[in-house]
Amino acid sequence: MALRKIRTIGDPILSRTSYEVKDFNNRLLKIATDMRDTMYVAKGLGLSAVQVGLRMRIAVVDARDEKGMYVFVNPEIINTEGSVGEVEGCLSVPDKQGFVVRPEKIKVRFNDLMGRRGEMELDGMLARILQHEIDHMNGILYTEVMEYEVKDE
Ligand code: ZN
Repeated sequence: MALRKIRTIGDPILSRTSYEVKDFNNRLLKIATDMRDTMYVAKGLGLSAVQVGLRMRIAVVDARDEKGMYVFVNPEIINTEGSVGEVEGCLSVPDKQGFVVRPEKIKVRFNDLMGRRGEMELDGMLARILQHEIDHMNGILYTEVMEYEVKDE
């Protein structure tokens, strides 16, 4: 298992945009596997490649429900519906949480690890997490879009 170091707020790479993945090869598989392991060890629900220092449009997402883990390469939101607020955290912003309003349902177009194109409709936590990860790909942290910080009492 190869864990990668998670970059945290203040690291300039987190403000940079990530590039479209064009090569669907063994390196990509290895990166996605490392990202998965890194996410689980850190007990996160999602991780974008830029958080481990790679400006590639790759996200691993696991809402910890029966649906399991997904890998989204080059995800692109093509439709949204509704709006809902929820508390979010981020592995790159340790020990903090914020209230973020996002579309409730999304339709997303993406590649899988083999490069195949797919579309999926997501709602609930999965939709929220993926939107958070796509923000990372665009250099945006939730702290920049949150309504307010939520403090644990
Ligand atoms: Zn995050």
